[in-house]
Amino acid sequence: MRIIIIGAGVLGASAAFHLARAGAEISVIDANLDGRATAAGAGILCPWISATEDASFHRLYCTGAEYYPDLIAALNDAGASDLGYRQSGAMLVSGDADELGSLERTARQRAAAAMGRITRLGAAQARALFPPLRQGLGAIHLAGGARVDGRRLAASLLQAAEFHGAKLSCGHATLAVEADRIAGADIDGRSVPAERVIVTAGAWADRLLRPIGFETAVEPQRGQIVHLRLDGVQTSDWPVILPPGSHYIVPFDAGRIVAGATRETGAGFDYRVTASGQAEVLSEALRIAPGLGAATTIETRVGFRPLAARPLLGWVPGIRGLAIGNGLGAAGLTIGPLAGRLLADLVTGESGLIDLTPFDPGPREQPKIGALAALR
Ligand code: FAD
Repeated sequence: MRIIIIGAGVLGASAAFHLARAGAEISVIDANLDGRATAAGAGILCPWISATEDASFHRLYCTGAEYYPDLIAALNDAGASDLGYRQSGAMLVSGDADELGSLERTARQRAAAAMGRITRLGAAQARALFPPLRQGLGAIHLAGGARVDGRRLAASLLQAAEFHGAKLSCGHATLAVEADRIAGADIDGRSVPAERVIVTAGAWADRLLRPIGFETAVEPQRGQIVHLRLDGVQTSDWPVILPPGSHYIVPFDAGRIVAGATRETGAGFDYRVTASGQAEVLSEALRIAPGLGAATTIETRVGFRPLAARPLLGWVPGIRGLAIGNGLGAAGLTIGPLAGRLLADLVTGESGLIDLTPFDPGPREQPKIGALAALR
């Protein structure tokens, strides 16, 4: 069965890997658009304490983080092991003892094996783990928190997909539909037939689907995120820092520290670093971690989160053979690898790890906007 996947962010790359591994004939097309979310994502994997009240989503989110060890083993088998993944823990930080108490209660209520050990830390202990931290901030440390490099994750998934026979190409795709079934795609004017097509085109999905009469209600949410470097400092084991609110600090290897991020709904596809976006991110980061003040600013990335009321994972109604994966919002690096596996199972007719009914793209209760918007 020939399957075309349009969009090679984390979701399309994961679907490609899982389908190619299962023996399907896969072509992956990506237009390399500016603002690809996967290329800008911070990479925090710590879903257990999210603010969502949507139980189906929460389960998908947590299962996404818990899928990583299996994924890493499968990628290793295909010779792709460079994901920038590390389970270095996460610290919920605050200077308010009552707030820390409440965070600790929430964490303990939601305790899951993958969340790892939950430890309340005093200010000195917290700074020992993350030296740039402001004096006087205590922390709840979650040992299971992790981080991943979105660019390296997607590249590893694509490398492993190629290892299993997938063909990758660069180009702009549109859908080819005959009556009520998918016929393939047009790629830069070239017609490519296929029995199945999966649209994993992130925030741009409506541009593909609207011409065939389907609207996703996915909209771009701009995120600006700043990369810093602390020269000569070994930061690999530093935990992710999660202060109250939506900003955060994510340490990677070799002194790279990522400070994020703006959440600009309504900015459309305006691919720019703005003065106020940069100022917001840096001032929030320095308020929590003044020790980053001397770091070198390396770059600011801009990405469009595909924001929806709920993820969409399933068949597009009315067009046989056309599936979609989308709407992972601010949680896509956590959920994306699992969601790609779920899409692959859907297309091959395997029973999935998770019931996709709540994420069916067909007519559903709308809108539950807020569930994803509330997430970090
Ligand atoms: P994308 O990565 O945007 O991929 C879509 C792809 O489709 C693109 O490569 C594009 O070029 C291609 N495309 C579109 N239209 C066409 C077409 N017509 N033809 C061919 N190709 C096309 N998630 C977390 O779990 N943890 C985090 O800490 C985190 N932090 C984030 C911070 C920021 C600043 C941002 C922006 C996002 C963050 N996310 C995080 C969310 C995560 O990055 C996204 O949810 C996820 O990357 C979405 O993946 P995707 O594959 O759906 O979309």
